Parts: sequence; structure tokens; C-alpha cells
Amino acid sequence: MRTLAVISLHSSPLVQPGVGDSGGMNVYVRELVASLAQAGVACQVYVRRWRPDLPDEVEVEPGFRVVHVDAGAPDLPKEQLEGIVPAFTDGVVGHLLRNPADAVHVNYWLSGVAGHRIKHELDLPLVSTFHTLARAKAETGDLEPQHRIDAEAQVIGCSDAITASSETEAEQLCRLYGADPARVEIVPPGVDHAFFSPGSHTGARRALHLGSHPVLLFVGRVQPLKGLDVAIGALAEVVRKEPEAVLLAVGGPSGPGGEAELARCRQLAEVLGVADRVRWVDPQPHHLLSTYYRAADVVLVPSRSESFGLVALEAVACGTPVVAAAVGGLTSIVQPGRTGELIESRDPHEFALAALAILADPRGAATMGAWAARYARGYTWSTTAARLRRLYTDLTERSLVDCAA
Ligand code: UDP
Repeated sequence: MRTLAVISLHSSPLVQPGVGDSGGMNVYVRELVASLAQAGVACQVYVRRWRPDLPDEVEVEPGFRVVHVDAGAPDLPKEQLEGIVPAFTDGVVGHLLRNPADAVHVNYWLSGVAGHRIKHELDLPLVSTFHTLARAKAETGDLEPQHRIDAEAQVIGCSDAITASSETEAEQLCRLYGADPARVEIVPPGVDHAFFSPGSHTGARRALHLGSHPVLLFVGRVQPLKGLDVAIGALAEVVRKEPEAVLLAVGGPSGPGGEAELARCRQLAEVLGVADRVRWVDPQPHHLLSTYYRAADVVLVPSRSESFGLVALEAVACGTPVVAAAVGGLTSIVQPGRTGELIESRDPHEFALAALAILADPRGAATMGAWAARYARGYTWSTTAARLRRLYTDLTERSLVDCAA
């Protein structure tokens, strides 16, 4: 296994996460490809040209190349990208004919549609990682168009392997899409411990101009699915007992409903009387987030659904307790009573109670933080890359799944 084609059609590993369409998938592709490159697998990452002035290729480091493929107007919103998938696929196939790869790893359903055609045209093994699944989102009320569901089902049916980041996602792939369990591999993402590790709580607070008051933290793209409104509701309850408490909300609007959601959350903070207790922070460069995690007493992750939840893992790696919704991959990262608490409902009151219990017990919180940081050591990008490298190698030695058979 020498060369891998990685497809990340709508989102570049070179873009700042936390706003627009950039989030965990960008971090995943960047960190995974960097680790694969270091392990000797050269990766060609195919991204749609999303700005006209981007160079054709960017050599990020030896073995990590980003290739910008022309397909549609650069500023097309994600919701209109399905129409340009054929042009994008043509561009990738053309590049692969000149620069062959041994396998294709696709990220998200749009890339999956491209990868499916590439698999058949170039006779390559196809590995799919969905990051989110339409039918899983639908279970929590976030409806996606039927054509996305159909496309996901087709790609799943023809993938030689489908990676799931948690047992929950593996179960969803099998139950909701009829994926063959023998082809589903649970490969959790990692965290970069060089950045995300315990550090000085007071130093981090000084750096962020925070005092000694209780600090709650929310990090992520602002869209209804992420539940910033629940975090604000929880803050409103926390300040009744801890009037000096603040909530740092780090991230920017994402997706078609992002701006409206941000406006709604700002208004909610006004209505609940905590507008002056919320600090709105623009999206931060990934490595700077460790300062925020270290400064916080509790990180809130009230998502409606989450295939994994890198923010929770990063917080845990920094030794900060996490209060998270008991959904998706969050249930594997948050160990109740050890790395934080899991909340079965999306009731802000429940989140507030769990946060207050952590705030009221600094020694318990410190023990939890130490346990959390140890637990997170089990997640590294080099482990993720090593497991995938074995998977790619196995697939290149097997006959391929054929969806027409
Ligand atoms: N992130 C970041 N800067 C920000 C906000 C978020 O680098 O201002 C990163 C965060 O560290 C995490 C990713 O974006 O690695 C979000 O991943 P997660 O799995 O939590 O959510 P997703 O975006 O995939 O829904």
C-alpha cells in the first residue's frame, strides 16, 4: 500500500474549522493524512476548487498533497454541490490516471458518490467514512433530502469497507442502511496530544483575560444540531447559584440555518437575562483551542446527534470534565462520573445540574480531569492511521465488492 486517494469534495483540510462547512471532517482528514504520510503512505487529497485563486496542488508535507479540482462555480453552497459531482469525478479520474493510487478513501456522502464511480472506472478498493448519516440525523428530527439517503445507501452497498468512529455509528450503518457487518470497521479518530493535554488552568485564564469565576465552554459550528441554545439555557440556571459564571461560545455560523441559529441564541441569552454572561468568540485556530479547554471548568456538548464528537475528546484530553448529550460517539468518550456526565435529555436544567455538581466539587473535578486525560491517551492519530493502513492493505489483496453482482 503506497499511495492513497482521499476524497474530501466539499471541505478542505487546509481550512480553519469551526465555521461554515468546516469542522471535525477537516480535522479528521488533515490529521489522518499527516499520520499516514509519516507512516509512508503518500496521500493525494482531492478537494473541489472553492476559491478561484487556489493553486492546482499544495504540497503540505512530504506525502501529503492537496489537489484542487475544478467543478462548478467556486462559491457554490454545499446544498448545491450534488450537481457538480460528475464534473468533480471527471477531474479526479483524470488526475488519478496520471498519478495512480492503490485505494480510494471517501469522506461524506458527496465524496462517496464520486468515489463509487472512481472505484468502478479504475478498479480500486473503496473505503467510506460518512461523518454524518442522513438516516441517523432523521432519528433526532434533522431531516435530509431523500436523494442523499439513496446515495448513502448505494455507496454503503458498494464500499469494500465502511469505517465507523464508534459502536453507535456501526450499529446505525447496519440497522438504518443494511450495511454488511463484516465490512464495517470501527476505527475511532484520534487527538493530537502535543496540543491537547492538561496544562495550567490559571495560565490559560490569564491568557484569555478570565478571572476566577466559573467558566462553561461550548466549542463548535453554530447550527441547530449542536445545541448552543441548550448551553445558554444551562448557563441561565447555573448563574442562579453561581452569579459570576460565564459561558464562552467559540465558533461561527454553519450551514443554511447557521446565521439564524446564531441570532436565535443571542436573543435567547437576552431573554434569559444572561447576555452579559456569554462571551462570543470567533472560530479559533485548532491548536489555540487547548487554552480554552484548559481555562474551562466544564465543557458542554449538547448535540442532537454526533457521529463522534472531536470537541469532547479534545476537552477530555486537556483534563476538563465534559457534560454531553448521551448520543452517538459522545457515549464512548464521556464516561459518566469519570470523564464527565452524560445527559439523556436535551433539557438545559439537566445540563445545569451536572455542571453545578462539578463546579461544587473542585477536588472531584480534579480527579475527574486526571482520569479523563489518562483515558484520552488511548486515542491517537497514529493508531487511527495504523489501523486504516492495515485495512487498505487487506483490501488491495482481496477481490472487490461489486454492487452490480
Ligand atoms: N474547531 C476549531 N476551531 C473552532 C471550533 C472548532 O478548530 O473555533 C475544531 C474542533 O477543535 C474540532 C472540530 O472543529 O476538532 C469539530 O469537530 P466535532 O467532531 O466536534 O464536530 P463536527 O464539526 O464534526 O460536527
